[in-house]
Amino acid sequence: MKLLMHTCCAPCSVYCIDKLREEGIEPTLYWYNPNIHPYMEYKARRDTLKQYSEMINIKAIFEEEYGLKEFCKNVINDLENRCSNYCYRVRLEQTAKYAKENGYDAITTTLFVSPYQKHDVIKEMLKEIAEKYELEFVYRDFREGFRQGQNKARELGLYMQKYCGCVFSEENSNYDHIISDKKSQIHENKITEQKIRLNWEVPNLELRPYKNGNKEQIEFIYDLKKEVYQKYVEEIYGEWNEEIQKKLFDKFMKENSKNIELIYIKDELVRILQWKRNR
Ligand code: SF4
Repeated sequence: MKLLMHTCCAPCSVYCIDKLREEGIEPTLYWYNPNIHPYMEYKARRDTLKQYSEMINIKAIFEEEYGLKEFCKNVINDLENRCSNYCYRVRLEQTAKYAKENGYDAITTTLFVSPYQKHDVIKEMLKEIAEKYELEFVYRDFREGFRQGQNKARELGLYMQKYCGCVFSEENSNYDHIISDKKSQIHENKITEQKIRLNWEVPNLELRPYKNGNKEQIEFIYDLKKEVYQKYVEEIYGEWNEEIQKKLFDKFMKENSKNIELIYIKDELVRILQWKRNR
């Protein structure tokens, strides 16, 4: 099998390559990631992959395209769905195109290793793209080795990025700092009776704040998005089921519901912060 593997970065490639090599498959790595910004970050990730591919003696092809403007133009109207609507497809489609034109007969992606990506969306999309280009779709659930791969990458001293890739994911990863910078301007702790959906990473909650006597409390109404919560459950338990989800969530709420700080900007609740235990 002549396999072309779309490769998002060196740390994610570690386990995927090890696993495929164990199976006797030698993939060619294909770098095409116009979703990584700003340029110095793009360069750092690309150069790390170059360095790693030479270190382990694997063929790697670098399709250069730093695409900040093009990327932003294509995602700006629906930022929430940018991963599924644009980012995955543009990279996977280009991988398939290159594979077809250059004599490869199968494709896969290192995106399958990350518990932080929309695994099922990527799986369906790549399957469809492979069919379109008449290529074999090689699927492995590499997530089982995510930690192992990341640990090995760290031991090897590879550059480890702190966010997914685009400027919007960079903003999310730094949200706490942005909010604490603004905190000095915020003194209005007026609690409004409104239902607010937060893009809070663990877990994804729907919250309804309300006032109870002197104490501000929060009633948590949770409507977990399976794809968001599942990855945390899987990291801990290696499998997903509804019962574990419920148990973990109840535990999380029991431990954390009293240690909450509400952050408002004007009247809008923008952030729920957890207090430290000893506060
Ligand atoms: S968060 Fe990651 S996958 Fe989603 S659009 Fe940004 S770079 Fe792409």
